[in-house]
Amino acid sequence: MKKITSLLIITIILSSCATKLPFNNISEIDAVTINARTKNRFFIPKTTYDPLYVRANFIYLLDTNGQGNFNGKNKEDNKVIDEILQKINHLYQNLEDPKDPKCYKGKDFVKDTKIQFKFKLLYIKDTFARNYRNSKLFNEKKRSYSAFAPSKNWYLKYLDNTINDTISKKGINAFFNMDVDAYNDVVLNNSAKAYHKTKSVSVSQFPSYQDFNRSSQICFPNKYTQYLWMKNINSKKINKSWDKTVKNWYISSYKGMSHEIGHSLSLAHSNEHHGTNKCDQAMMNQGWKAKRNYIPPTEIGKMHKALMTSNLIQFVTDESNYNQPRIISENENWDFNTIRFYQDIIVKQGKILILNGNVILPKNTSITLEKDAILVLNNATLKTTNNTNFTTIIKNKNAKIIKY
Ligand SMILES: [Zn+2]
Repeated sequence: MKKITSLLIITIILSSCATKLPFNNISEIDAVTINARTKNRFFIPKTTYDPLYVRANFIYLLDTNGQGNFNGKNKEDNKVIDEILQKINHLYQNLEDPKDPKCYKGKDFVKDTKIQFKFKLLYIKDTFARNYRNSKLFNEKKRSYSAFAPSKNWYLKYLDNTINDTISKKGINAFFNMDVDAYNDVVLNNSAKAYHKTKSVSVSQFPSYQDFNRSSQICFPNKYTQYLWMKNINSKKINKSWDKTVKNWYISSYKGMSHEIGHSLSLAHSNEHHGTNKCDQAMMNQGWKAKRNYIPPTEIGKMHKALMTSNLIQFVTDESNYNQPRIISENENWDFNTIRFYQDIIVKQGKILILNGNVILPKNTSITLEKDAILVLNNATLKTTNNTNFTTIIKNKNAKIIKY
C-alpha cells in the first residue's frame, strides 16, 4: 500500500510539472529574436524550396489611337517582349558563380533566387501619362530624371492608384512612358537627335517596411523609342542585321529590367561584399556592358526578408509556398509588426515559438507543436492570405498555446 501511495504522489508531481509553464512571463523566455536587424543570411532560401511568385504589372501607355508604344497587337513586338520577360525569370533562376573575390569572398553560391515573376501586360490609352514631358518636374535643360522618378507624388500616381484598385491585382507596377518629342523625331523624321538628347534612366522604389499598403513602382522610360531607333535607324547605320544581331541587343535589356526589379526587391548597387560597380558580374552593376548575372547569397536572403516583412507581401501570389516546413529547433521570437510566412511551421519538442503582431500564413498550411512545445501569441493575430483566421494548429501531447 505504501508503495502505491508513493507512486501515486510521484505521478501527481510529474503531471503537475508537465502542465506548469517553464516561464512566468514572456520576458523570462530565453529565445533567439528574429527582427529587422537579423542578418540577411538567415533568410537565404534552401535549394529544396519552391519559388515565390511575385506579380508584376507591365503598363504600356498608348496614345488615343492605341498606338505609340508596344500595344500587344504586333506579333514581332510581342515575341520580343515575351523573350525579355522569359529571360528575366530565367536569370533569377540561373545565376552564375563569378568565382571572383571582388564580388564575394564566401565559398557558398546560390544559383536560384527562388523568386519568379508573374507578369501581366496592361495597355492603357492615356496621352497625358504616355508623355513624361507632362510631369511638372520635367526640365528640358537640366535633363534630370526627377520627371519620371516614381514616388507618392509623381505625375503617374493617379494611374498607379487605379491599377491597384480595379484593373489588375496588386503587383509591382512598371510604367512604360516616354519623351514624346523624341519618339516623334524617330518615327516622323527618322532621326535620333532628340532621342540621344533625352534622358532614359530607369528608376525604381525600394520596399517600405512601415506602410504595408504602399505600392511599388518602376519607370522604364523610352523603351519603345529605343526599340524603333535600334530597328529602323541604328541597325541600318551600323549595317547590322536587325533580326540576327541588333534585336538580340535590344532583348538584352532584360538585364537592366532585372536590375530595376532587384531595386524593388530591396537590392542596392553595393552591399557588404562589394562596392558600387566593383563586381562586373553583379546584377546590380550599373554598366550596360557588365555581365550582370550574379547576386551574392546574402543579397538573395535580403530579398526574401523583404518579401516576408515589407509592403512586398501584397504582391506575392496567394498560392506561393516554399513547400518545405520551417523547423523551429531552438526557442525563437519573431518580432515584426507584420510578417508573412510562406511555409508550414514545426515547433520541435519542448521548444517555444513567440509570434508578435500581424502574422500571415498560406492557405492549407499548419503550425505543428510537437510534444511539450509552446506557441506564445504576444498580441498576435494569425490570418491566412485571404484574410480569414488561421486555425490549423496541431498540438501534440502537452503542447500549449499561450496568449498575451
Ligand atoms: Zn540601379
